[in-house]
Amino acid sequence: MKKEPFVTKEQLQEIVKQFPTPFHLYDEKGIRENAQAVKEAFSWNKGYREYFAVKANPNPFIIQILKEYGCGCDCSSLTELMLSDALGIRGEDIMFSSNETPPEEFRLADRLGAVINLDDITHIDFLEKTIGKIPETISCRYNPGGVYEVSNGIMDNPQDSKYGFTKEQLFEGYRILKQKGAKRFGLHSFLVSNTVTNDYYPVLAKTLFELAVEIKEKLGITISFINLSGGVGVAYKPEETPNDIRLIGEGVHKVFDEVLVPAGLGDTAIYTEMGRFMTGPYGCLVTTAVHEKHTYKEYIGVDACAANLMRPAMYGAYHHISVMGKEQAPCDHKYDIVGSLCENNDKFAIDRMLPKIEIGDFLVIHDTGAHGFAMGYNYNGRLWSAEVLLKEDGTPKLIRRAQTPKDYFATFDCFTILKDMKY
Ligand SMILES: *Cc1c(COP(=O)(O)O)cnc(C)c1O
Repeated sequence: MKKEPFVTKEQLQEIVKQFPTPFHLYDEKGIRENAQAVKEAFSWNKGYREYFAVKANPNPFIIQILKEYGCGCDCSSLTELMLSDALGIRGEDIMFSSNETPPEEFRLADRLGAVINLDDITHIDFLEKTIGKIPETISCRYNPGGVYEVSNGIMDNPQDSKYGFTKEQLFEGYRILKQKGAKRFGLHSFLVSNTVTNDYYPVLAKTLFELAVEIKEKLGITISFINLSGGVGVAYKPEETPNDIRLIGEGVHKVFDEVLVPAGLGDTAIYTEMGRFMTGPYGCLVTTAVHEKHTYKEYIGVDACAANLMRPAMYGAYHHISVMGKEQAPCDHKYDIVGSLCENNDKFAIDRMLPKIEIGDFLVIHDTGAHGFAMGYNYNGRLWSAEVLLKEDGTPKLIRRAQTPKDYFATFDCFTILKDMKY
């Protein structure tokens, strides 16, 4: 599918008068339409709920939009819980799916009434010691081990993943939890990341639904909710076909009717914890070409760097790039598009065929709405960019200002000459 930016060059020329590049820009209209589609795709399930994975885009303005479509928050840390609390998202509207969890995080999760999703059997005792009880509602994360295959070669290795209970531990865990007073049980699993296929959720659902039936038969425990977690991917590459959430919802429905309904488990609620799919395609990193360099290769230096978007440097991830105003021009120049870090992996694209780039051109780096800004860091003293929401009426709204040197030095309580400096 041809990848088109959701913003025009003319709009960007207006936006940069207020907010200089680089910045992450989000498409409110896209986020809303997609959230509505997700809601409809699972509307067949009475208890359905999407818990947005806050780590993918921890911006309260974005989460507030998703909240309007009934989304809760999937949190994994203290500050994510605080963010959720600040938005009035509390109680069972929070799924706390963490791992290697510090005690104060379990304490806050419990105080907020969040659903706690345990990552390990040893956390049962740890939780009980920490909060003085086992909550009535509790969930466990399952890891089947081995290799998990979905379709057309898409798979992952749960065997090597640090998350979750083994099957044996899971049965033992539910038994202990019940004995300690738990009354409502959930089952969770996250087996493959960024799947670009409509089959992942239905295949995972079958695994978990069959397991829920087995748990009922062997332990007499009814699983009240099944959490398919994240992993629904986005089409980063133009040759990929985006997932169709309607088909995914129908696929899960079919397995639900085949496995859970005949077992008398037709009241089971389906939960999801999507991050990437909810916001990924509806964000982009807007950057300006500031240098060109001709050595053994052709380089375009931009004013963003891996500190603003880590995925290409960290995973070699592909992010599509549009040179704004040149959408129709032939891609007859081969470039490395690079940032300013003193790290040779600071490349947004390598050997990418693009139209001829002039200094001052805006480059739009696609699909940065999830795991984009969120993974930012401060290496080389590079500062975080701003985040701007492109509202439905086409006007921009600053939803997080850019970091300043003062912010960067703010934690030097003991070296006030930096903390309080003025330039
Ligand atoms: C990262 C994560 C998610 C979201 O994953 P996406 O691939 O962004 O959908 C959901 N649940 C848990 C527990 C996670 O760690």
